[in-house]
Amino acid sequence: MARVYNFSAGPAMLPEEVIRRAASEMLDWHGKGMSVMEMSHRSKEFVSIAEKAEADLRDLLKIPENYKVLFLQGGASSQFAMVPLNLLRGKSTADYINTGYWSKKAIAEAKRFCDVNIVATSEDTNFTTIPPRDEWKLNPQAAYVHYTPNETIGGVEFHEIPDVGEVPLVADMSSTILSRPIDISRFGLIYAGAQKNIGPAGLTIVIIREDLIGGASPGTPTMFNYETHAKAGSMYNTPPTYSWYIAGLVFEWLKEKGGLDVMASINKRKAEKLYTYIDNSEFYTNPVEPSCRSWMNIPFTLKNPELDSKFLELAREAGLVNLKGHRSVGGMRASIYNAMPEEGVDALIDFMKEFEKDHA
Ligand SMILES: *Cc1c(COP(=O)(O)O)cnc(C)c1O
Repeated sequence: MARVYNFSAGPAMLPEEVIRRAASEMLDWHGKGMSVMEMSHRSKEFVSIAEKAEADLRDLLKIPENYKVLFLQGGASSQFAMVPLNLLRGKSTADYINTGYWSKKAIAEAKRFCDVNIVATSEDTNFTTIPPRDEWKLNPQAAYVHYTPNETIGGVEFHEIPDVGEVPLVADMSSTILSRPIDISRFGLIYAGAQKNIGPAGLTIVIIREDLIGGASPGTPTMFNYETHAKAGSMYNTPPTYSWYIAGLVFEWLKEKGGLDVMASINKRKAEKLYTYIDNSEFYTNPVEPSCRSWMNIPFTLKNPELDSKFLELAREAGLVNLKGHRSVGGMRASIYNAMPEEGVDALIDFMKEFEKDHA
């Protein structure tokens, strides 16, 4: 059986080495006679898996001592509510940057809990740009500033962390975490659903500065309070044990590859290759302003949209799957997270060249 190159935005490809390792440990993890799925989350075996995963993540991202790492469920979408519930801390307003689909989702949910001040929006360019920092209307009284460093659907990415002064910066890093080094100390809180660049669906990682824990609004459900999970080492209730274990294997794999500096140079090279090919072609187009193009999600359209289904069909036959763009954008999208090997991007470009030659 041949594995395909899977360009899905999420759940996305995992490193083959990780899947092989999980397969080899499936029936009998380290001589314990059971799989990780069957272990008590309170057993010393699982606790060792959980602690190793956290230590490796801290090491990869150089997470400072005064930040907690939480292994939660509910997806990034639950964080859209957990962030205001926990970070408003008596304030009534929060700042949000609107750069597209996922920003809008976060904004809509936050409006249930507070006044949302839209600091800046790129709606006027149909979300193909990032609003210039000097035009942002930040409110110094805001409880926090929320943004989406990588818009998974629009393919727009911030290549620098915006300076927002003393107000805690909150980032939905679902589709960019671990793609490059980041300075965690610039953030109050980072969250990410696992199914893009961390591991399997079902796990959500939150990295939170300790002073932001403990101020949840009255009435916050126990499970939606960061303090609950921080105090219990993410084991207040049964955590997503198998996803946590696989995430740990991905962290080990990243360390073996050389860490995030190495991943960043590979990711940059992969993305630049594909953008360069698209830009030099008369047949394919990417609409995003070059300075804010995503390294992870690359949408593109064909000159003649009537060829879309043919393109997808032939790509599938060539072992290149899940290239269909999001329903809100149309066209194609290649998601090329850490686990997508450079050969996968090369194979896609070769296929696109052939298709262009035959259909231009
Ligand atoms: C995928 C994604 C989400 C939604 O994640 P769920 O885990 O499905 O809730 C939110 N934000 C961004 C940036 C995403 O890419």
